[in-house]
Amino acid sequence: MAQVLILVDHTSAKVAKTTGELATFAKRAGDCVGLIMAPAGQGQALGEQLANTLIDQVIAVESDDFARHGAACLVDAITQVVEKVRPDAILIPSTSAGKEIAGRLAIRLNSGVITDAVDFASDLSATQSVFGGSFTVSSRVRVGIPVITIRPSAIEAEVGGSAPAFERMDVVISDKAKLVTITDTKPAVKGGRPELTEARVVISGGRGTNGDFKPVEALADILGAAVGASRAATDAGWYPHTHQVGQTGKTVSPQLYLACGISGAIQHRAGMQTSKTIVAINKDPEAPIFDVADFGVVGDLFAVLPQAGQAILAKRA
Ligand SMILES: Cc1cc2nc3c(=O)[nH]c(=O)nc-3n(C[C@H](O)[C@H](O)[C@H](O)COP(=O)(O)OP(=O)(O)OC[C@H]3O[C@@H](n4cnc5c(N)ncnc54)[C@H](O)[C@@H]3O)c2cc1C
Repeated sequence: MAQVLILVDHTSAKVAKTTGELATFAKRAGDCVGLIMAPAGQGQALGEQLANTLIDQVIAVESDDFARHGAACLVDAITQVVEKVRPDAILIPSTSAGKEIAGRLAIRLNSGVITDAVDFASDLSATQSVFGGSFTVSSRVRVGIPVITIRPSAIEAEVGGSAPAFERMDVVISDKAKLVTITDTKPAVKGGRPELTEARVVISGGRGTNGDFKPVEALADILGAAVGASRAATDAGWYPHTHQVGQTGKTVSPQLYLACGISGAIQHRAGMQTSKTIVAINKDPEAPIFDVADFGVVGDLFAVLPQAGQAILAKRA
């Protein structure tokens, strides 16, 4: 049976939801080892949050150097853990930080790397959606220990029963890995909605909103969804560029993607085509977005979205 090491993404206090997703993929291949790279003294508290996942064993490496010196330092430490544990594959969340770690780690391990996978199979192969979602590619790393980054929300995390075994591991971080020092970081200002790339539900607005995102936001708040936007909407200054979905924006893969007043250009589809269920609302029955939609409503978003919100609230009452 294979052993798969997953990198646990976390803030200083909270384990990210990608952890349960990576664990669910890892268990397809065999045992799952969760690796926490924690600030000094915080490994145990973070490890306790993994009680309801499918992780079998937790390894915590603690050092304040990770925050102080960044990716090089993390990779130095992860390499030492990998050399001790000798996993058959390593799964990392496909965030920008995760992809930086994956690239550096693959070089250190002399391994192949696959990024932005949307699926992972028991034979350690990974599936990617490429060329704007036009092709699905299945590939396998043939050199070294496969390092694979997995898109957030690519799978529904399964819940586990028992608490995983916990172990601390010591590493020696080289001076070379400490050459860069991070002097200051400022977290992005966040609203009350979930992070776009991690949300289970994303509702996006396009040029069809004519700059009025209120109905999109209102339904997003009813569904606990993140708000996305097409480039037409972000270029017009109607919504921040950080919310743009697509080829030159963010890639999302939620359980439900609702496209409102978006035509469905190939560059937009590149960022959302791997969503599990796609719903489109558009006045034009010929809009290309309907080609990729599982469900479509031909209508005015300003009429459809409030009605949908009311219907959902009425069902909950
Ligand atoms: C190199 C490059 C990179 C790009 N990267 C991206 C990217 O990352 N993301 C991205 O989104 N685009 C990207 N684009 C732009 C892309 O080609 C499209 O121009 C853009 O996606 C169009 O946005 P839209 O669908 O909102 O607008 P439009 O194409 O103008 O479509 C608006 C739609 O709204 C419908 N509509 C109008 N009013 C209503 C209403 N009241 N109710 C319901 N429907 C209504 C219309 O029928 C129409 O289908 C890129 C382009 C290039 C060249």
